[in-house]
Amino acid sequence: MSELASPQLSWKENKTPVSDRFDDVYFSADDGIAESLYVFIHGCGMPEAFEGKNAFTVGETGFGTGLNFLLTWKEWREAKTDCQLHYISVEAFPLSKEELAQAYQTFEGLDEYGEEFLKHYPVNAAGFHHIVLDEGRVKLTLMFGEAAEMFAQVEGEVDAWYLDGFAPSKNPEMWRAEVFEQLGRLSKEGAIISTFTAAGFVKRGLQAVGFEMRKRNGYGRKRESLIGALKVSNKQLKNKWYFKPLKSFVKQKIAVIGGGIAGALTARRLLQDGHEVVIFERNDQAGLEGSGNRMGLIKPRVSLDRGFNIKAYLSAVSFYDNLDIDVWKGPRGIFELAKDSADVLRHKMVMEKNILPSSEIRHLSKEEASEMMGTEMQGGGLWFPNAGYVEPSNLCQALTSKMDIRTGVTITKISKQDDQWQLLSGEDIVFEGDAVVMATAGENAALNDYCDLAMRARRGQVSYVKATKQSEKLKYPLTGGGYLLPCVEGEHIIGATFEHWKDFFEKSYTEVTEVSHEKNREKLKTFFPDMEFEFICGRASMRAMTPDHNPIVGPIYSKDWYVKEYSAFMHGPRAKNFAPAEYVEGLYVICGLGARGMQTAPLLADVLSSYIAGTHCPVENRYREMLHPARSLMREIKKAKP
Ligand SMILES: Cc1cc2nc3c(=O)[nH]c(=O)nc-3n(C[C@H](O)[C@H](O)[C@H](O)COP(=O)(O)OP(=O)(O)OC[C@H]3O[C@@H](n4cnc5c(N)ncnc54)[C@H](O)[C@@H]3O)c2cc1C
Repeated sequence: MSELASPQLSWKENKTPVSDRFDDVYFSADDGIAESLYVFIHGCGMPEAFEGKNAFTVGETGFGTGLNFLLTWKEWREAKTDCQLHYISVEAFPLSKEELAQAYQTFEGLDEYGEEFLKHYPVNAAGFHHIVLDEGRVKLTLMFGEAAEMFAQVEGEVDAWYLDGFAPSKNPEMWRAEVFEQLGRLSKEGAIISTFTAAGFVKRGLQAVGFEMRKRNGYGRKRESLIGALKVSNKQLKNKWYFKPLKSFVKQKIAVIGGGIAGALTARRLLQDGHEVVIFERNDQAGLEGSGNRMGLIKPRVSLDRGFNIKAYLSAVSFYDNLDIDVWKGPRGIFELAKDSADVLRHKMVMEKNILPSSEIRHLSKEEASEMMGTEMQGGGLWFPNAGYVEPSNLCQALTSKMDIRTGVTITKISKQDDQWQLLSGEDIVFEGDAVVMATAGENAALNDYCDLAMRARRGQVSYVKATKQSEKLKYPLTGGGYLLPCVEGEHIIGATFEHWKDFFEKSYTEVTEVSHEKNREKLKTFFPDMEFEFICGRASMRAMTPDHNPIVGPIYSKDWYVKEYSAFMHGPRAKNFAPAEYVEGLYVICGLGARGMQTAPLLADVLSSYIAGTHCPVENRYREMLHPARSLMREIKKAKP
């Protein structure tokens, strides 16, 4: 996720931002707000357009200062509507948070919106950033990158378009046929499109993709501008096997099985979306199994091919920063020691390739690291200033404390009667409703007959050790082939082992063993080679891993249907065009969060909620594919000979 270039900002008369890169203003120096309202918000029929809809999606080219977004959000809130607001916008040269804050000083009546938005404004990293506001009822997908490329990663249906890039003469890239093609592809029948320009080639380009365009009076000194609506649907069937047909949002009664971090955050998001949600957890409390550790690190795993990992990390940091629960424990910042020459090389490459934005990562020499960490380090490494640690078990309990959670209930069977799902616990029917989410980590096999979600059980033991005079000086978590946390009340946590286990249902894995303590002792030697630690006790639990180490998130598919329908599509000229996939309607999964679930769960819960709501997905299509429950099957199908 590399950093994008700056728009090179300067200020006209100290109040209007200008991009020197494009030699153009972000909004009219005369009255930017009135112009935005005229051209875009009212031009596209808001607030009346919200009426009678469950969700309304605005698409925008050129996020700029976010003025149009803030105004749309305000208009939406003042309309006091039940309709949810979704907003997809693209920006190739993002402003910094400080620049936005300065611009917002001149936005009259938008203070509270600007202030709230800035708390969520993402770091400068290419790709999608999903921002959830107004208790989940406003969702902004801010895409940092080139417009056609970014929109190509979206599947969705837009109700209204704001074309607000810099003027076509200054920024022709934004007004290319490839961008117009994407606008046509992503539009609902009847979608309104509005722009400040009256350029003839823009009119013709939009007509070519199905919009009926006309000129109307421009704002202020501008004589004319363009407005139109999609008359001819231009949708070519470019369906992918991992798409789920979009639908209008319908409030549903949903059961979430599992009160770990995946279940708790999914339930939270679904409640915010307006669904009725009940969680079933077999233990007496939430967060006692995989999510039951005392501490969990939120820290990126930096390697050269882990785009999703970095994305999930950035999303988690922003999510936990803005959560209404005090999540972070201890000071922020984590150090990753380069423990051998391979790490030194990897760290060098990571820094050279800008895997993370510069605000999120720094290289420290051995001396710098020792000073930062408060005690001598064995080498240099990477410093992540915004990383930190949370208490998984407490977090799950805090998240679910105000939810309808039925503890002590083991779900033994999921079945469908007509179009209603039933959950059984032994002989008892404990739930009847529209949808079920399995958030049961590795234990899906017993509940789901429709497809095979291959899982691997990987046991992990953490050890609690007594601090020594030197180790108690450690100020921040130290990682590198394991982790050591700063001491609390004289104890450190060192972890965690990674052990192959037979299967999830063989429960002796919770026993703390000497063999595993020994493995953790080895990790300690990497950090403090000459020091002996006294081991006090520990905790062991299970990670649910998938064969490719990526989580599984999405709708449950019917294996028989996929094999029958898609085998033929994998070969020959139609290989990229798939019939719309058939799913087991109302059954979903979020599992296999592996070794980083505390970090990936916030974004994964958003992905799952988008499938259930039938709206556009908050991550790029390539990540949807990577997370999709049918991906292993599709790999098998692709490998099969025609
Ligand atoms: C030792 C160790 C250290 C880790 N360290 C980190 C870390 O530092 N950072 C990080 O991000 N991640 C870490 N992880 C990974 C992280 O803890 C997991 O990815 C995450 O907790 C998985 O959450 P989950 O909700 O999917 O699973 P779980 O927390 O296991 O939740 C599943 C829930 O489903 C319930 N359940 C299952 N079947 C049923 C049923 N039939 N009926 C009712 N309830 C059911 C279970 O009781 C359980 O509560 C670590 C994991 C381990 C094991």
